[in-house]
Amino acid sequence: MSKHVNVLEMARQQLAVAAFHLDLDEGLHAVLARPKTQMVVNFPVVLDNGQVQCFEGFRVQHNASRGPTKGGIRFHHDVDLDETTALAMWMTWKCAVVNIPYGGAKGSVRINTKKYSKRELEKVTRRFTSEISSMVGERSDIPAPDIGTNAQVMAWVMDTYSMIRGYTTPGVVTGKPIALGGSEGRNEATGRGVIVAAHEATKRVGLDFANSTVVVQGFGNVGSVAAMLAEEAGAKVIGISDARGAIFNPNGLPIKELYHRYSGRDGGIQEYKDCDRITNAELLALDCDILIPSAIAAQITGENAHAVKAKLIVEGANGPTTPEADQILDDRGILAVPDILANAGGVVVSYFEWVQDLQNFFWEEGEVNNKLERIMRNAYKAVEATMDEHKVGMRTAAHIIGVKRVADATITRGIFP
Ligand code: GLU
Repeated sequence: MSKHVNVLEMARQQLAVAAFHLDLDEGLHAVLARPKTQMVVNFPVVLDNGQVQCFEGFRVQHNASRGPTKGGIRFHHDVDLDETTALAMWMTWKCAVVNIPYGGAKGSVRINTKKYSKRELEKVTRRFTSEISSMVGERSDIPAPDIGTNAQVMAWVMDTYSMIRGYTTPGVVTGKPIALGGSEGRNEATGRGVIVAAHEATKRVGLDFANSTVVVQGFGNVGSVAAMLAEEAGAKVIGISDARGAIFNPNGLPIKELYHRYSGRDGGIQEYKDCDRITNAELLALDCDILIPSAIAAQITGENAHAVKAKLIVEGANGPTTPEADQILDDRGILAVPDILANAGGVVVSYFEWVQDLQNFFWEEGEVNNKLERIMRNAYKAVEATMDEHKVGMRTAAHIIGVKRVADATITRGIFP
């Protein structure tokens, strides 16, 4: 992440714009601009070589007016309390935009996962879970995967929490392996939702998705699935990147092959031969129809937004576009489907997983995908309608819906005591 961009400031600016359009009460605005609870933990782990290392982690609950708080746990070397708070705030609006009964939260541990063995990552996960166990719970705060974490990490979270409680508690975390109460379709859900949003948005900008050219930044859980589904739908994915760099072929890249043959290798997709190697800056500036940033925050900024040639941006990542860039894209007539709408598919299927866990009754993949697609489409349409009604950009429209639902819930519940 570009550290010169303060993502919490970014999140607060976006909230302020929505608050202005909603004529939100000042006191309520102040409440929503701050997290409800923040926890900072420093904890030791014995590494494989016997040495003790201290790790820093965070769990932030932003708002719980609409239900238990929900949000991923991120393992990344560059996390901090402010960024985790911004991500928690975005989770609050995201859950409200797609109208699922959650507030927002986020957790993170400052760690470069590549430097540690599986056993060490398990210990970090278990100790972190135990440190934040007073906050999480199937009725209070439900973590999920995010950057640097996956279904295996969620299994360790579930097991650790269950050991503390004394009984198996699958509903405490989502994004688990299917065998442990995970949901069919959860792994692909964020990428699938991104493509549903992209499909809807192409209609607004006059593109035909099946005949479009697509560039995807990031080849993690979101980027890889979005790219594969775009390819499956007939679109041509001409550029893609992973943590090592980007590749480009104007005739299209074989995404499924890249995923199955190259993504697990040390050299990653860079080992694929039939393409040009390009920089991240060049990737974002490629001439294409749809750009899907699916890596980290603050990638499209005041500095490079002028260079973007895509007609449509669909945000797979959280916070990839800064407010300065938003303004430039808006002025240039480039539509950006915002993160809190575009990448909400993950938390929507997390919600399905949680419901299935609480009921001990599991659904088939087709049912999950159909319900996900319906929710995404309806949320997209509501955001578009708000955009037209308030004559605002799509990010502001999504925030108007999210913030209004949270504000209404807070006012209707009343302030305790
Ligand atoms: N980490 C994902 C996100 O940012 C998923 C959160 C969840 O499923 O709770 O939306």
